[in-house]
Amino acid sequence: MSTGKLNSPPRLSDYVDRERLWNRHMELGKIGATESGGVNRQALTGLDSQARKLVIEWAVTLGAEPRMDAIGNLFLRLPGTNHELQPISTGSHLDTQPGGGMFDGIYGVLAGLEVLEALAASDRRLPCALDLVIWLNEEGSRFSPATMGSGVYAGLLDLEDTLLLTDGDGVVLGDALEMMKSTLGNLEHENSPSIYDAYFEAHIEQGPVLEASHTQIGAVSGIQGLRQYEVIVSGQSAHAGTTPRSRRQDALVSAMSLINDITAAIDDSEDLVRFTVGRFEVHPGSPNTVPSKVIFNIDLRHPDDDRLEEIEKIIVQCTGRVKTCRADLQCLIRSPVTHFDEGLVRLIESAAKALEFSVKTLPSGATHDASSMARLCPTVMIFVPCRDGVSHHESEWAEPEHLWAGACVLADAIEARANETDL
Ligand SMILES: [Zn+2]
Repeated sequence: MSTGKLNSPPRLSDYVDRERLWNRHMELGKIGATESGGVNRQALTGLDSQARKLVIEWAVTLGAEPRMDAIGNLFLRLPGTNHELQPISTGSHLDTQPGGGMFDGIYGVLAGLEVLEALAASDRRLPCALDLVIWLNEEGSRFSPATMGSGVYAGLLDLEDTLLLTDGDGVVLGDALEMMKSTLGNLEHENSPSIYDAYFEAHIEQGPVLEASHTQIGAVSGIQGLRQYEVIVSGQSAHAGTTPRSRRQDALVSAMSLINDITAAIDDSEDLVRFTVGRFEVHPGSPNTVPSKVIFNIDLRHPDDDRLEEIEKIIVQCTGRVKTCRADLQCLIRSPVTHFDEGLVRLIESAAKALEFSVKTLPSGATHDASSMARLCPTVMIFVPCRDGVSHHESEWAEPEHLWAGACVLADAIEARANETDL
């Protein structure tokens, strides 16, 4: 398994075990398994607690000390040899979408756990402590918003407000969290955020780039910026049989031409603009009435903030040109591009090359907890390919070989960072 040179000391990645890593994905995949081979394990459910309990058991066996903070983020700390040093952290999330899979988030937790395993198996200790982090509610499907735990941790979301949020059944988040705490037993409380030297997150790509280019490792340069808008087009309802076209203020016709105008005006020869209208409501929704109102949302993403600004101007101009009806545009979310630490991106590339894995630098299309962490400390992500780029779906799949490769890179990169050595 070793790709190291003859006589060179073994790498930490030599102790990463492909089978153990794969088997743990399968074992966690049973908690909330759906009939179609996916997983439904939403945040703060009994199943979420069960998954967390299992990972705590695994980590504690390796000498990790568990702590939980006020929003339910879990920190499994392996102490280092020098208490003065800032700890390093790695992790991801265990919650899934309602029709999710076995790998999104879970992989980052299990790859991190594999680093703890490799340290134990090689009888090595890092100079600094290593925290394996399980963030609360990354998916945001039961309680919105997404990346909640890391958002509170990084001070992007208010703790007290977040604890008062409710799910679709009216369950208060704080109450669900108390339930989880009692299931997990008396864990030590994490009072204030640690100052980390670095944060690493391994994840399936959730896109098609690595698979299509037969690349084993993605060194992630950052996370593309996101803007979300709501557009309300207001017209006048009228009888579908008696109102001639010249007298209509048809909100649906105006909304459709507005969307067409925007898409036609966006120049995207590089195929980097992600423009989506995923919600579209027509009112009053009667078959024989001219629509009086249309409400739709635009989800816009791009890896360059300047391009997002330009496209926003196009959206504003096109909205202002809508005829016969009135169109109002409101920006709901403006999340800038996240740039990961350049030194850490290089470190991931070197770690992959040293192991003779093919590596490509690419931005992330989806948002991750790493986006919150990048505001606090040098941060990077490692991507591995997933089948057809599919995620948030029961058919989500990653190959054991790829998961292993990513965990090897994670292990060597963390060890190099901790020891301040080159790869
Ligand atoms: Zn995820």
